[in-house]
Amino acid sequence: MRFIVIDSYRCSGCATCTEMCPSVFVLNPLTEKAELIAPDQAVTDAVLEAAAFCPEKCILIVEGEEVDT
Ligand code: SF4
Repeated sequence: MRFIVIDSYRCSGCATCTEMCPSVFVLNPLTEKAELIAPDQAVTDAVLEAAAFCPEKCILIVEGEEVDT
């Protein structure tokens, strides 16, 4: 399964991802960093496009297993 990870340290808060894919990304008004609206968002073409256009290249798509807690 693929997951979306945002490297908040590198995020500049430019809002490109929130404009391109508002159903997945949102800007936190306190930190002015992008966050996921929900942690288990599907990796859609729109997400991949937003990741490609992120000027800081801080939207990462990682492969991993779901972990039950
Ligand atoms: S496009 Fe990248 S740098 Fe801009 S707000 Fe989104 S994650 Fe942050």
